[in-house]
This record gives sequence, C-alpha cells and structure tokens, in this order.
Amino acid sequence: MNERPHATLTSDAARPDRAPDWHAFNLAEVFTTLGTGAEGLEAAEAARRLAENGPNELPAPPRAHPVLRLLRHFNNVLIYFLLAAATAAGALGHYVDMAVIVAIVLINAIVGFVQEGKAETALDAIRDMIAPHATVLRSGTRRKIDAREIVTGDIVVLEAGDKTPADLRLTRARSLLIDEAILTGESLPADKIEDPVATDAVLGDRFSMAYSGTLIATGQGIGVVVATGSHTEIGRISTLIGQVETLTTPMLVQINRFGRQITWFALGLAALIFGFATLVRDYPWSDALMVVVALAVGVVPEGLPAVISITLAIGVRRMARRKALVRRLPAVETLGATSVICSDKTGTLTRNEMTARRIITAQGEYLMEGAGYATTGRIDAADGDATRGSDAAQTDLVRAALLCNDADLLDREGCWSVHGDPMEGALVALAMKAGLHPETEREAWARRDEIPFDAQHRFMSTLHSTPAGGAWIAVKGAPERVLEMCRVQAGGTDTAVDPAFWHARIAGAAGNGERVLGFAAMTAAPDMERLSFDGLGSGLVFLGIVGFIDPPRDEAIAAIADCRSAGVSVKMITGDHADTAAAIAGQLALADNPQVVTGAELDAVSDDGLRKLAQGVSVFARTSPEHKLRIVRALQANGDVVAMTGDGVNDAPSLKQADIGIAMGRKGTEAAKEAAQMVLLDDNFASIVAAVQEGRTVYDNIRKVIAWTLPTNGGQTLSVVLAILLGLALPMTPVQILWINTITGVTLALVLAFEPTESNVMQRVPRPRAAPLLSGFVLRRIGIVSVLFMIGIFGIFEYAMQRGLGEAVARTLVVNTVVMMQIFYLFNVRYLHMTSFSIRGVLGTRAVLAAVGIVVAGQLTFTYAPFMQVLFGSAAISLLDGAIVLAIGIVLLVVLEIEKALMHHFGALRPGLAGRVGVDDLAG
Ligand code: ATP
Repeated sequence: MNERPHATLTSDAARPDRAPDWHAFNLAEVFTTLGTGAEGLEAAEAARRLAENGPNELPAPPRAHPVLRLLRHFNNVLIYFLLAAATAAGALGHYVDMAVIVAIVLINAIVGFVQEGKAETALDAIRDMIAPHATVLRSGTRRKIDAREIVTGDIVVLEAGDKTPADLRLTRARSLLIDEAILTGESLPADKIEDPVATDAVLGDRFSMAYSGTLIATGQGIGVVVATGSHTEIGRISTLIGQVETLTTPMLVQINRFGRQITWFALGLAALIFGFATLVRDYPWSDALMVVVALAVGVVPEGLPAVISITLAIGVRRMARRKALVRRLPAVETLGATSVICSDKTGTLTRNEMTARRIITAQGEYLMEGAGYATTGRIDAADGDATRGSDAAQTDLVRAALLCNDADLLDREGCWSVHGDPMEGALVALAMKAGLHPETEREAWARRDEIPFDAQHRFMSTLHSTPAGGAWIAVKGAPERVLEMCRVQAGGTDTAVDPAFWHARIAGAAGNGERVLGFAAMTAAPDMERLSFDGLGSGLVFLGIVGFIDPPRDEAIAAIADCRSAGVSVKMITGDHADTAAAIAGQLALADNPQVVTGAELDAVSDDGLRKLAQGVSVFARTSPEHKLRIVRALQANGDVVAMTGDGVNDAPSLKQADIGIAMGRKGTEAAKEAAQMVLLDDNFASIVAAVQEGRTVYDNIRKVIAWTLPTNGGQTLSVVLAILLGLALPMTPVQILWINTITGVTLALVLAFEPTESNVMQRVPRPRAAPLLSGFVLRRIGIVSVLFMIGIFGIFEYAMQRGLGEAVARTLVVNTVVMMQIFYLFNVRYLHMTSFSIRGVLGTRAVLAAVGIVVAGQLTFTYAPFMQVLFGSAAISLLDGAIVLAIGIVLLVVLEIEKALMHHFGALRPGLAGRVGVDDLAG
C-alpha cells in the first residue's frame, strides 16, 4: 500500500482559488495549516470556528416558491373544467354561480396547499431527528456530537458503518475500506492509507482522504477535518443536493390514477347527459351546462388525494411520537401489512444493560455481586469456598477484559453509565470490582494496535506494551471462536485446551440466558508493532469465559404477546450463542416451543429448503448478516411481508431487501440508517409493534376516508342523473352540490384522517400484501350507500313537493338531508370493524364534534341567512321538517349498522388465519 508515489509537498493552502491538495500534504503540514493537533481542538476553539464558518451542512435543497406550489393545485383536469364552467356561467350572466364556483375552486386549492405543507413539515421534523452524529476528539477526549457541529481542524474517528461527516485527511487507517460510489461512481470500496499521494491524483485515487458522505465499509480510521459543509467535495456537486424526498406512496399513486380515471368518466358522463338534456329533454343549453358542471363536481372526489396525504402524514407523526421514525413514506402503508418481524436480540428484545455475572477458568468458577454497571461488589468462588482467592488465569482474564475494550464508564452522581459498547462497559465494571483502575491500567499497558470487533469474525484483539517493556496480546470474542484460536489453556501449568470441558461450561451459562464471551492472551515479541490475523496464529492461551446477564425488556414481552394475537410472527435473528438465544426466546414467550437453528445449519440448507424451514423456526442463532438476507428472501418467497431490524454496515443489504428495513437509532450505524425505511429512536422492539399498530390504523383510516367519500359523491350523482333521465325537476342545483361537497369535504372527510386506533386493531390478522384498496367491502358500501342516499334525496324532495312547499324549500330540505346523512354515515364509517353503537362511538372525538359543529353552523347559515338564500337559492325550513331531516339521518345509521352486524355475523362463520376471524377477509 505504501508504494504509491509520494508527492512533492508544496503547500498551496494559501491559494484562494482552489482547495489545497490535502491528499499530498504530510500530516505535520496538515496540522500546522489547520491549527490543530492529534488531540483535536479545544472546545472553545471549536465553538469559535463554528461561529465563524457556520455549521457543517449542505444548503437545503431549493423548494418551489409557495405561489408556485399553490398554483400546482390548480393543475388538474377537473379544475380546468370548473374554471371553464365558471367562465361560461359568467358569460351567460350567472354571476352568482360563477362566483360560487371560483370560490369553491379556491377553497379546495388552499386546503390542499395547507395540508401538503403540514405533511412536509412533519417529514422535515423527522429528518432532523435522525441527523447524523460523529465521534470526534476534543482535547484528547472522544465525544459523539451532531455532525453539523464539526469544524475544520476537528479530529474525527471513523468506524465500519459510519458515514464520513466532512472531508478528512486521514491520520490513521486500519484495514480502512470506504465506499465512495456517490462521488466517484466506483462500486468497489477504496483502500485507504495515511501516507500522502501524488498532487495530481484524481479524486478516486486520493487514498489518504475520506470524503464527506462516503460510507466506511470496514476497518477503522482517524482523520483531520479539512473542509466542511458546502466546501466539501460533495458540497460542490450541486446536482446531488437537489434530491428531495417526494411525498408519494404506491397507494397515493393508485388514488391519483383512480382520481384521474373518475375525472374522465365524469367528463364523459357529463357530455352524455348534456346531449341527452338538450336534445331529448329540451333543456336550454345554458341550464344543461350548469347541470353537467354540478354532475361533474358531484362525481369527482376532488379532495381525496389531499385527505389521504394528510392521513399518511398524521401516521408518520403518530409513529414518531412512539419512537419509530419513518424515513420513507411508503413504509407507513407497508407497516400495516407486516406479517413477520425479524428482530435482533441484544438491545432490541433485551435491555442491553449488561452485567458480568460469572467467570469460569480451568481452575474455578466465580460469581460477581452487584447489578447494572456498579463498580463495587464482591467476587466470590461459586462453590462458596471463601478461602480460595483468585487464580492466575482469572487475573489475566480480567486484565484482558479491561484492555481489549473500548468502553468507558462515566460516574454521574454515583450512577454509572457506559460510553461505548454495553458489554465492554460491563467488563470495565468487572475489572474495577477486581481492583483494577481503568486509567492507570490502560496507561501502564498502552495499546499499540488492534483488530477491531467484526460480526463476521466475532472477536476483537489488541496489542499492548507491558510495564516490563515487553508486548502482550489480548483476545476476546465468541467463546467457540476464541477456543478455535487456542491450543493451550491457562491452568496451574498451561495445558492443552479441553474443548469438551469448555463447551459444557458455555452451554451451562448460555442455558441460563447468559451471554458468554471467551478470553485469550499471549506474550508477543517485544518489538511487535502491528497486529494481524497471522500474528495471532499460534501461542494464544485460552483464559476462560465470562457470562453476562442481559434481561429481556418487559415491554418486549408484552409487545410479542400483541404480535401473536395480531397474527404477526416474531423471529429472533441473533449473532449470539444458540443456547443463550433459546433461553431468552423462552423468557420472551416468542413461540410455544421456540425452534432454534444456527447459521452453520442454515449454510447446509438450500434456498427452497429454507423457505419451508423459515416458517417454523423462531430463533436463528450465530448468524451473520448474509444469513439475514437469505432469511428475508425465504420469508418473502412464502408471501410474507417482512420487517427486519439491523444495525451494522453489513446489515444494509438485508434492510434494503426487507419490506420494512428498521435501523437502530442509538446503536445503529449510519450505513444501516441510510438503508432503512424506518429508524427506532429507542432501539426497542415494542416501538416496532407500536408502528405496526399505527400502520394498521393509517390503512383503516384511508379506507374510512374512501368508504365515506365515494358513496356520498355517488348518491348525489345518481340523483342528478336519474332526475334528468326521468325528466324530473333537479333535486339540487349545481351550486348547491358544490356547497355540499365543499362544506363536508374539508370537515367531515378530514376528521377521518385523525381517527384514533380501533380497539381491536391488534386482534386482526395482517391484511394480505395485495389487498386492493377498493375491496369488495368498500365497493359494496359504495353501491348500498349511494342507493340509500338517492332514496333519501328523492324521498324528501317528493315529500316537500307533495306538501306544496315549493322548489326552494324542497331543495333546501334535500341539501340538509344529504349533509345530515353524511354526518350519520360518518359515525357508521368511524368503526369499520365493530359497531358504532358504543359510548365512544356515539360521543365521537373532539375532531369529530368540531367538524359536526362547523357543518351544522354552515347548514343553519345556508338555510336561514338571507345572503346565503340569495347566493344558493335556499329557503328557511320549519322545525318539523328539520326533525324529519334528522330522522332520515338516524334511519340511515340504523340500517347501515344492521348491515355491518350481519356482515360480521356471517363473517364470524368463516375462520381467518390462526383460527380467528379474519375481518379483512370480509373486506377483501
Ligand atoms: P444481536 O445480533 O442479537 O444483536 P449479538 O450482539 O450477539 O446479537 P453480534 O454483534 O453479531 O451479535 O455478535 C456476535 C458475537 O460476537 C456475540 O455473541 C459475542 O460473542 C461476540 N461479540 C460481540 N461484541 C463483541 C466485542 N465487542 N468484542 C468481542 N466479541 C464480541
């Protein structure tokens, strides 16, 4: 690696026109130029630079001007049609109609614009919540900061899975491979070094640099920040910055397509009716035109896409409140259909608050007192023999545990917390209980080099100077892995390892649900500076094992029970030992008889075999990220909708493959977060289940919006068509139809977007992946309700005409009846899956009541206010007639509730999956 040509190092840092060739600088030059050093900046200096140069972020992508965004809401065939109609009405002298149509078009556009704005704000807020973080050295201490606070001169520590937060000149690179595809288009990761490269090296050959936005594929590195924000290489490529996540999902696309189809259908129908009215019924063409305008407006659910977007946005917000951040909007829809959740164990199903509980060496077993990360507590022989002190292997093991370790314990007013990996934190606590002082020890046994932990090779190793001037290697890792690396074990005198003895001990501890780690060490050549896999080849001495307890999360146990009742199966996919995984699965009640398979066993199974196997197995142990990918594929081939968690850089492929990739917000790498559709703020399994529940609610609410909107439009359309076909007087005038659609569209339809979760939402089986939005249930609803509306409309119109109340009163009664039926129908639709005759159902929510209040006030104004009577041709109605209108609404509700009850009754005879009622079967 070091054979690459070195540059002649002439500093051109001072040239203002181009960035200095940092890749060709030697380190001393970089440090001097940037006024920093290997220990990093002091906090005050960093703050000063931040204030001077601004935050490390790329300028926000330009957004369309608000006026343009508002105008986009007019870009729609129906609106053109309405505007044309308004012009025609004006030309014919129908100024009131013209004004009403224009006003209504405006109101719809403004409501759509405001709702879209709200949805975007919700997504922006979430993007902020998962802003990347980076580890920097400030005055020699590591700390994790918001990547936006990084300044030039900062020293950044990089690990596998990190996203490079700014442009860095590397000062240290250990097996460092960086994926630079976003900058260079090169799909293979670049091998990085710390030595300078030629001045004229092109971007892809600047091996001494790490560029902002690139992903660390493997290894570790340290670099000094040479450019931040828009001064970075990525900042210069303006095209990339233009990417804004679009507010769309497959369902919205489907709805928009449906909306367009309906619009054309409405136009076609309008043309036919226009022809029929003028040619057959001899309507004057100007009147016929106004009728078809009303018809078109009555048919088209113009507000539907906007209400559905807001429903999705509300879902996103509710999920965020429950610690599940949706990065890609389609996830909101898919979540509700999830049928399998594949989850990591450590930290997701368990608390990840580790405590080292037992040490086993060849000579004895020791138990540790104390819970959490407490640094005090006795270490006693497990057999109760107080006379036995520690043995030599135990002393070496504890030292290896402290040195082969990157974690620190922080004392916050007597309460210890970990900075770093919790298991390593538990080992620091163990060393302190054994009387070692971390700082003194780590100074006396300074680290020269390391092989970082990797889920692939499952161990970590470090090389140290000894106080006596020698060198010492420590290894810790999965116990079987460490055992494989050792030929001898520490005892009174070192003897050959006894695998049977150790496997029995490992199985014993793992069977209690303990997580087990193996330790080894060896004396190395005093001048050894670099650690390699070969360097560990021979001479390692197995020291013993440590068992940790990491109890299951209580909320995970409850969430798993919810999943089981909701027909969602949960599978644990862990890197941990099979026995540990099985014991924890038992404590979590993952399945009645959790079946366990290991990664090695998976390797022996074909893809077809895995399809069958994956269904029954609930625990996959000692797996690697490649196994996760195969498991997701196998489950998907079975027709499952799979949610999969992941945190490491190697999890990215399976997160992308899964229907819902879920990354851990706390311990997850940036690579995993980028690949995921959803990020868990608290790394907690229960949050996934909460998101599934919210996903089901969103889907329910969208169906409610559709089930409410389409038939109410359908009823009005049927009435107008029928009146014209039969040559009857129109029961409503065009502007009256526009009035109804506007007043109820922006109130009643919208409240359905806010509906809370139905209480039985987690007792239903998941909806099939391909379930159509306009299911049989919804289509039947549209048919039945349209007809009922039509009957109501003609019924009240005929009643008024028979009593000689005149057309104005009759039409006013019709308008009030339609709105009343819409209100009562709303109460019916609020519970698609259960009766609406409950206290909760009758009382409604605050949003429902507010909407009903607005509509009622609107109707009173429509009926009694003189100016509205002029505008809309309405007339006052009597109290008795008002009561009749109310009664029609009540009758409609009762009829529809009876229909719902019948459906459920017959549906109950048909068992759903898992022997329960598949209510969505009814719907499908
Ligand atoms: P999960 O996949 O459920 O989070 P896990 O943390 O056990 O489980 P990995 O992180 O893949 O999965 O770890 C696999 C194994 O590697 C662990 O069971 C442990 O034996 C070992 N191991 C984990 N972390 C370290 C570490 N920092 N140093 C050494 N060995 C480790």
